[in-house]
Amino acid sequence: MNIITRIIRIFVPSYNKKMINIVLFGPPGSGKGTQADLLVKEYNILHISTGDLFRYEMGNNTPLGLKAKEYMAKGELVPDSVTIGMLENKVNANPDAAGIIFDGFPRNIFQAQSLDTFLSKKDTMVTCLIALDVPEEELVKRLLNRGKSSGRADDNDETIIRNRIKVYNSETKPVFDHYAEKGKSALIHGVGSIEEIFTRIREAVAASH
Ligand code: AMP
Repeated sequence: MNIITRIIRIFVPSYNKKMINIVLFGPPGSGKGTQADLLVKEYNILHISTGDLFRYEMGNNTPLGLKAKEYMAKGELVPDSVTIGMLENKVNANPDAAGIIFDGFPRNIFQAQSLDTFLSKKDTMVTCLIALDVPEEELVKRLLNRGKSSGRADDNDETIIRNRIKVYNSETKPVFDHYAEKGKSALIHGVGSIEEIFTRIREAVAASH
C-alpha cells in the first residue's frame, strides 16, 4: 500500500467502503469469466477466479494443486479449509485494489460468511452479487463446446458437467439468498450477445451503489 493510500485510510474511515466488490455468480458455463474481463476494463478492479487459482496451482504441481485436482476432476467443491485461505492470500497480496470481482467464490454459505467477516475486518464489504441465469441445457452445450478448446478435463465429460451443475444447485445457489436478504443480489438474464449481457450487468452494478 502506498503512503498516500495509508494516510487517506487513517483520516477517511469510509475510504475503503468505496471499493466496488462484485460477486459474479452463476452456474458453470454461465459466462462469468467472459463478463469478468469486461468488468475489469470498466471499473479497473481486480479479478479473482478461484477456479483459475486452482488451475495455476495444478499446473505447477504444488501440494495445493494436487489436493484440488482430486475434487475438480469429479466436479466437486474443493474443501473450504483450502479454498478460503487461498482466496484471502490473493486479496491480501493486492492491498491497493480499487475493488474486486469474486468469480467462483463464494460457492457455499460458509464461504459467504467467511468472506463477509474477512472484508469487514478490512472495513469494506460485498457491494453486490450479480447472478447470471442460463438454462441447464444451454450450460451443458456451452461447456462441451468450451471443452473442445479449453483443455479442461472437467469441461469434456458430460457426467462431470452435470455433477458441477448439481453441486451448484444444492450448495452454491443459497449464496444468492444470503446476499438477497441484504438487498444485494440481482438476477440477470444470461442469454444473448456478450455486449447485451454486459449492459444488463453494468446497469445492475450501477443500481447497487
Ligand atoms: P470454475 O473454474 O469456477 O468452474 O471452478 C472449477 C472447479 O474448481 C470447481 O468445479 C471446483 O472443483 C473448484 N473450485 C473453484 N472455486 C471453488 C470454490 N470457491 N470452492 C470450492 N471449489 C472451488
